[in-house]
Amino acid sequence: MTEQLPQRPSRPMRSRLLSVTGVAVLVTVVGSVLIWHTQLGDFFAPTADKEPVVSGLNAPGVSGPPPTTLATRTPQSTPTKPKPTPTKSSKPKPTKPKPTKPAPKKTAEYGELSIDGLSPKLRARLKKAIVAARADGVRIQINSGRRSAAKQQRLFDEAVKKYGSAKAASRWVLPPKDSAHVQGKAVDIKPVAAQQWLDKNGWRYGVCRRYDNEPWHFEALTAPGTRCPPREPHSVPHSGAKK
Ligand SMILES: [Zn+2]
Repeated sequence: MTEQLPQRPSRPMRSRLLSVTGVAVLVTVVGSVLIWHTQLGDFFAPTADKEPVVSGLNAPGVSGPPPTTLATRTPQSTPTKPKPTPTKSSKPKPTKPKPTKPAPKKTAEYGELSIDGLSPKLRARLKKAIVAARADGVRIQINSGRRSAAKQQRLFDEAVKKYGSAKAASRWVLPPKDSAHVQGKAVDIKPVAAQQWLDKNGWRYGVCRRYDNEPWHFEALTAPGTRCPPREPHSVPHSGAKK
């Protein structure tokens, strides 16, 4: 009995050792299979996220990690791309159509000191006269060409004050509706030498002095090369002219 005693434990020890190694082998095999599985899964996974596999290799033979790592992989696999922050659409403000203010136009005066606003007929004739006068050493200057109705009204109002009545004023300045200046059909020139030259030679170009009392006032009253009509003593308003 005493002899058998030392043998007794050896047997179970051996079997125990065998079973332990068997278990160890089994664990290793199972573990390697699991690792292979994870690697295979990773191989087929569209996104290569190696981190879970590495953690699985760190713990070989442990059945725990692989499923959990597989579970945790999905959220990690989505790479967080830096979202392009939508820049605030700096919309250009709808530009309001600027209210076109009636700016004080210079053209409102029709370039009174030039021949710009004159009628084509008077302008063309005057141009020729200006060239001819220059050849004679005389410089024709425009003192007043076409006037705006507003300017003419202003002049007329001033004349009424000066001469005491509309009738008296009309001998010098006509109201806008009667003025040849507002229509671009009259021109006042300067200096006196130019007025005298044009009074003498204007008929050649169809430009005539019209009034006795206004040596500066000219209009296209005749055909070029023909005599000018007899002068009028002074201007008379066409409308409402009593007498
Ligand atoms: Zn005039």
